[in-house]
Amino acid sequence: MSKADKKAAKRQAQETEASAAEKAGAASKQMKRAIVYLAKESPGIFPLALLQAVMEAAYPYIGILLSAGILTELADPGRSMSHLFRMALLLVGLNFLGRRMMDFGGQLLDVLQYTVLKHIERAVAEKAWKMDYAMSADPRINETKQRITRWHYGRGVLALVGQVRGVFQALVTIGISIALVAEFFRAKAVGEDRTAALLNHWAVSVLFLVLLSFSIIYSIYTSFRIQKYYFKTNETSEKPINRMMYLMDSCFSKYRNGKDIRMFHAKKQISGKLRALGGEYLREIEPAFRYERRKTFYSILISRCFDLLVYLFVGAKAIFGAFGVGSILKYTGMVTQLGDGVTRLCDTVRDFLQNLEYVEVYFRYLDMPNATAEGTLPVTQEIRDNYEFEFRNVTFAYPGAPGPSLSGISCRFRKGEKIAIVGRNGSGKTTFIKLLCRLCDPQEGEILLNGVDIRKYQYQEYLSFFSTVFQDYQIFDFKLGENVAAESEYDGERVKEALENAGFGERLSTLADGLDTQLFKRFSEDGVELSGGESQKVAIARCLYKDAPYVVLDEPTAALDPVAEADIYQRMNRFTRDKGAIYISHRLSSCHFCHRILVFEEGRIAEQGSHEELLAAKGLYRRLWDAQAQYYA
Ligand code: ADP
Repeated sequence: MSKADKKAAKRQAQETEASAAEKAGAASKQMKRAIVYLAKESPGIFPLALLQAVMEAAYPYIGILLSAGILTELADPGRSMSHLFRMALLLVGLNFLGRRMMDFGGQLLDVLQYTVLKHIERAVAEKAWKMDYAMSADPRINETKQRITRWHYGRGVLALVGQVRGVFQALVTIGISIALVAEFFRAKAVGEDRTAALLNHWAVSVLFLVLLSFSIIYSIYTSFRIQKYYFKTNETSEKPINRMMYLMDSCFSKYRNGKDIRMFHAKKQISGKLRALGGEYLREIEPAFRYERRKTFYSILISRCFDLLVYLFVGAKAIFGAFGVGSILKYTGMVTQLGDGVTRLCDTVRDFLQNLEYVEVYFRYLDMPNATAEGTLPVTQEIRDNYEFEFRNVTFAYPGAPGPSLSGISCRFRKGEKIAIVGRNGSGKTTFIKLLCRLCDPQEGEILLNGVDIRKYQYQEYLSFFSTVFQDYQIFDFKLGENVAAESEYDGERVKEALENAGFGERLSTLADGLDTQLFKRFSEDGVELSGGESQKVAIARCLYKDAPYVVLDEPTAALDPVAEADIYQRMNRFTRDKGAIYISHRLSSCHFCHRILVFEEGRIAEQGSHEELLAAKGLYRRLWDAQAQYYA
């Protein structure tokens, strides 16, 4: 190796060392954070886990020590029956009491863990609501979210409770076992012959300890290798499992999806996809199974051979009078316990180290910036009374998308102005209103409200500026009134008025429980199922109830019959008289009344103007208009 090569190798080694140290530092920070997080959420969780660990470690020794005592007494010609009886009673009593206490402690710990788990799930969901809407649609982020919620007790922050308990239990087990091993070595074989001398020879004891260590180390090494192998395959093997869960959830637990599944005989297709995903999972995990089978074979073989040696050694010492027959049980038991304790310690430390990555993923997810929540300016009454929006050369691409969905958008609209947006599917209409409502932020350009970038306004106040009906609006499995008001305490009269203005008045009069009617069946067997049109009217009522300064309607009447549609547009027009409004509609006839129409094409504003101006321009709008007009003709 040349001098330069040596230098380069040294530098690389230093860098690796530094990055490993950095990693370890970051990991220990996250671990501290996780422990503080758990202790804060449930102050009793660690004390209880430690108590449980001590009980679990001590429990096997009750059986071992008392059984050994009973055997020794039995083998003694001068045995006392009452002493024997007392010991048997103590054995049964302590066994019973110990088991009951452990069961009780275990159940209590489960309850505490469950409470923390619910908190973790809530934190994950809240984060999803807080983060930038476009980010929440990012498949990679969704994958992370699904992984975190699927780990539950096994991995991540909550797994730390089990790991702390495991380490502590292992340490107590090892402590007790070492005390007994020392006692075993102190017990000397009696007699003058060579076998007794051999059994008492220090070299035999050292050999015994070496073999014990070898057996334990080999089993730990095997388990490490196996876990490492599993860990390597985790990310790829978890993917099909997560997808299976998603498919099962969307296909089997959502009543509304049942129609399409039946009508298009999709059952076969879904079963096929589930089978394929199951197959993919098995293919990913099979090498790890094979690897585990191969590795554990040798580890078990070595361990059983060592057990045989233990029985021979302990038995021989007993034959040569080192201790009574009962102690055979004690010392063979102690060796097994020692092995178990060391293995558990190493397994738990290994799990702990591997779990660091999961803990980090969890906090990394929670620490993602809430891009939309940065602004500080209030949206004052003055702005609400008189406002103007401006899109200035705005470009936006969804995360992970190959190209922008909107490019170079510039336009202005103000209070009192009704804007219609038309254009072909996928031309960027919905994306435009998502940007306006700050569900997503543009990568280039600015959106201004009264000359100020909308990112500078307080996010919640800015959101309250809009009443919306989205194309894919969501009606929740709540009561009717709660759905309209979007809160549990509401003004019943205003909710009724909103429902009437949304064309739901007649249907409301048929509902025995009125605004208290539970919607859909998930929360109540008596829940009411709404038709598509009725759901849309409830969504419109919610928009009316909010009564915000600006109204955004994305295909608000797609599911309504023509009479209801005409009626809603008239009412909407009255409702938005003093407000600004944007309507997205495919029925161009309903855009007539708007002051201005923006025609979108491939993420750009291709034309804009009044209905008459656009017809006269004989461009895209004219073509769309003529295409629809021929059906009416
Ligand atoms: P429109 O409302 O005009 O039908 P959209 O604004 O919904 O169109 O979509 C514009 C483009 O952006 C389409 O090409 C669509 O595929 C894409 N798009 C919409 N939503 C997402 C998303 N969450 N992730 C990636 N691409 C998206």
